[in-house]
Amino acid sequence: MLEPMRPSELRFVTHAWDPARAAELEGDEVALLVYRSNLLGSDLRITNFGGGNTSAKITEPDTFDPGRTTDTLYVKGSGGDLGSLTRDGLASLSLARLRALAKLYRGPAGEDEMVPLVEQCVVHGSRVAPSIDTSLHTFLPFRHCDHLHPDAVIAIAASEDGEGLTREIWGGEMQWVPWLRPGFGLALLLAQCVVEHPSLRGIVLQNHGMFSWGETSLECYENSLELIERAASRLDAKAGGPTTDLAFGRVTRVALPAVERRARAVALGPTLRGLVGRDRRVVGQFRDDDVVLDFLSREKSPALVQAGTSCPDHFLRTKIRPLLLDLPPTAPVEDCQRRLTVLMDEFRAAHAAYYERCKHDGSPPMRDTAPAIVLAPGVGMWSFGPTAVDARIAGEFYVNAIRVLWGAESVSCYRGLPEQEAFDIEYWALEEAKLRRRPPERPLARQVVFVTGGASGIGLACAERMLAEGASAVLSDVRADVLEEAVAALARRFGRDAVRGAVVDVRSAASVRGGFAEAVLAFGGIDIVVNNAGLSVSKSLPETSESDYDLMNDVMPRGSFLVAQEAVRILREQGTGGSIVYVVSKNALVAGPNNVAYGTAKAAQLHQMRLVATEAGASGIRVNAVNPDAVIKGSSIWSGGWAQGRAEAYDVPVERLGEFYAQRTLLKKEIEPADVAAAVFAVASDLFSKTTGAVIPVDGGVAMAFPR
Ligand SMILES: [Zn+2]
Repeated sequence: MLEPMRPSELRFVTHAWDPARAAELEGDEVALLVYRSNLLGSDLRITNFGGGNTSAKITEPDTFDPGRTTDTLYVKGSGGDLGSLTRDGLASLSLARLRALAKLYRGPAGEDEMVPLVEQCVVHGSRVAPSIDTSLHTFLPFRHCDHLHPDAVIAIAASEDGEGLTREIWGGEMQWVPWLRPGFGLALLLAQCVVEHPSLRGIVLQNHGMFSWGETSLECYENSLELIERAASRLDAKAGGPTTDLAFGRVTRVALPAVERRARAVALGPTLRGLVGRDRRVVGQFRDDDVVLDFLSREKSPALVQAGTSCPDHFLRTKIRPLLLDLPPTAPVEDCQRRLTVLMDEFRAAHAAYYERCKHDGSPPMRDTAPAIVLAPGVGMWSFGPTAVDARIAGEFYVNAIRVLWGAESVSCYRGLPEQEAFDIEYWALEEAKLRRRPPERPLARQVVFVTGGASGIGLACAERMLAEGASAVLSDVRADVLEEAVAALARRFGRDAVRGAVVDVRSAASVRGGFAEAVLAFGGIDIVVNNAGLSVSKSLPETSESDYDLMNDVMPRGSFLVAQEAVRILREQGTGGSIVYVVSKNALVAGPNNVAYGTAKAAQLHQMRLVATEAGASGIRVNAVNPDAVIKGSSIWSGGWAQGRAEAYDVPVERLGEFYAQRTLLKKEIEPADVAAAVFAVASDLFSKTTGAVIPVDGGVAMAFPR
């Protein structure tokens, strides 16, 4: 027997159970299960995002016979995440019915037919699909069970000598169960293991993770932590355990300094995003933390990258292996771009061949053949997915994978799953069903929007609209404080992953390049650019100074020129088309008094839009304009004397200016930023995929301003 550990003795996992919080939940076993799950899921070393599941078997009054009790299994729903699990994310099932299913199980060939039977055991009308692992929890004779994917335990589970290490580390309190895909077969094997070893505290699942249990939520939690702690401390170098030199070999490739890594990532990002997103766009994320750079700098990393990842959850997020750039970080950028193109073709061909080799009758169709993880030694790692959140999670998974490789190579040799087993998980009908349960993609899913002047007014409304349509967005603005507030507000609504801010002065080419670099690092590149930054002055010809005139022209036509130039360069490198929308003005077409500087600048922007459209069309890049008029609400243009100036020019009181503008339109409607944003979204989206060089008025109908 191992000596039990006190919470204070744990060094690699954190005992975060708060007795006061637990006391508040006392008597509500489901609440305690959610609490325990959240604690376990909040540490990615204990279980990767969306990975693992927890359960409780609770004795309750029988709904149909209140004099009697019945046992209900509460288990995490399929695809949910432990860290953010709520009561609604749990499936509830009749334990008696679930256990009766053992009689209907006809062996490995009948595995998938058990799934709809499990779904028939649902009680209390719970709406989430029960986890694929439900059966694993069903036959274990313990009230509370945790199935986790801790890096330290997977390292043992993916070691050549995993069974011996299991005996050595846990002294017979954990048993080794050989690899078997989750399902009734594995469930019955686990139950048998417990019968044969009555004093067992947990089970190591080869190439997968662990099971642990307890009679109360707290007992289960502490048991899980302690079992993980023992694996982690065995792998710890400071405690006399292995070093990174032992695990990954010596350093053979030194990483570039941080500034150069970033510059390299910016230079390669669009090419890479274009290659990965050739068939379907993807959002990418770059990271260069120490764990990634150190791994890539080591002698053994090229071979270990090819060995692939192990835990079943990984295949769907990271594919079975990443793409590794095999050039030094100092090689010319053009050489790297060319090499990536070749490697990408090879990767796609290899995936197609793997699919052909391993597929069965009835396998789901081959998915996108592009890699999800791309590694560049000395530079860092890109991860890709349909959204910014997916891209981040794929990257987190590969960091988990590096830790697993490290652990396994420290104490033994890493052994991934055999290819056929990996395929059977990646293309498992049940995993396919999980993917199909994802909500349908929104119109701008997989796209990245860059909006200038994005901190307020029309720019902010455009960013908001396109985020709501599924895009990721970079808001750029010259006003750092207003920008920070706007980004924070959008992040609260749409999630931190989807929104970034970049302080940009569009008058400076360097500043514009810096803004786009932020977009490339955060999302891999861009798809839609809204040339919106602007300001105004209302002065008569004699009153207009040289600096008034220059400022209007510097910010608007010169600024939009610099933005379009950099945008087209990046979009061409990506090679997946794109869309640029100029927010111009009715004043580009209609001459009014006291408007010589602003009106000239807007007219120049409108023609610039057409000129850029003629050059960019061959690259599949569409360029269009939206001409708003009289957007007063929320617009910074109307502060700073402009409204007053316009009111004087038209000889109406300033407070009646909005009404004045509305009344002189055909529709007699006031224009709001959201109206302009709707037009910008529409013309930027695939709804207008065959339109370029067009001008769309959003002005309530001003006949004088009809484009001709
Ligand atoms: Zn698992």
